[in-house]
Amino acid sequence: MAEKIDGKAIAMQIREEVGRDVLKLKEETGVHAGLAVILVGEDPASQVYVKNKGIACEKCNINSFEHKLPADTTEDDLIKLVDELNNDPKVHGILCQLPLPKHIDENKVLLAIDPAKDVDGFHPMNVGKFMTLKKYSDISSMGLFLPCTPYGCCELLDRSGVECSGANAVVIGRSNIVGKPVSMLLMSKNATVTICHSRTKNLPDVVRGADIIVAAIGVPRFVKGDWVKKGAAVIDVGVNRLDTGKLCGDVDYDAAFENAAYITPVPGGVGPMTIAMLMKNTLMSATNVSKLK
Ligand code: NAP
Repeated sequence: MAEKIDGKAIAMQIREEVGRDVLKLKEETGVHAGLAVILVGEDPASQVYVKNKGIACEKCNINSFEHKLPADTTEDDLIKLVDELNNDPKVHGILCQLPLPKHIDENKVLLAIDPAKDVDGFHPMNVGKFMTLKKYSDISSMGLFLPCTPYGCCELLDRSGVECSGANAVVIGRSNIVGKPVSMLLMSKNATVTICHSRTKNLPDVVRGADIIVAAIGVPRFVKGDWVKKGAAVIDVGVNRLDTGKLCGDVDYDAAFENAAYITPVPGGVGPMTIAMLMKNTLMSATNVSKLK
């Protein structure tokens, strides 16, 4: 029987730590962390995400600057706003909520964000810097912006006491936002990492050898209980909406629960960590700025 990894509680703990450190930084250096979030159009899911980010900022004592633009905003106008925010000393992090309307090139907007304010960690400069990370413990000293979801997965493992060093980690999924970066992070924690995808042969057998499983596929309950080795730690990144309206992950939770030592639920596992790590990245950006003063 597994121990459930309570992502909600761990995210709360991180938010409290960030909130404290934001005030400390302000007191000691006068730098007050600020996050600007841009929302273009009226996509309902994006509206919820932006609202939640605003609430998280408030809880973490971070200044929040919301920019809501109409769906017909031109690419030039959006990039002009990004440029203004790049030059605004009150703003330490800039996040443009995706997806953007079809007439706007997401990549162009992403490249327009100053890498020093790219708290999502998606700018190629930051991705490149990330590839030079050797030790997980060097993240802060390198001032690295890591993509929030993979960073959150590793914090869940850390704070649950899962030993990564020497462990066999199997990551299912190779996307740029989850699979690839989480694999690199696990390697920086000295795990031996196997990255699987839709062309992987004998996937169940590969997964059966894992001490740590990270599932980032996007297929409901794809990972079966008997693929999970006794004592394994399971991090389920998947968020899938079932016909019933309920959310479920990429792992067959109930069956995997029997074999795993640790497992994240969906919802309430990785999900809450993404915003918590965004707050942590924003604090780090403000800290980086304070060091230049
Ligand atoms: P994605 O870009 O669609 O990538 C899915 C990956 O799964 C691909 O690498 C794909 O392989 C692999 N895959 C698909 N079918 C497979 C199969 N039958 N066998 C083996 N591998 C298979 O998805 P993503 O953006 O990484 O997201 C993955 C999941 O995480 C989604 O449910 C998403 O909603 C969720 N997510 C959650 C958060 C959060 O905050 N909790 C954040 C981001 C994403 P190929 O490369 O070969 O196609």
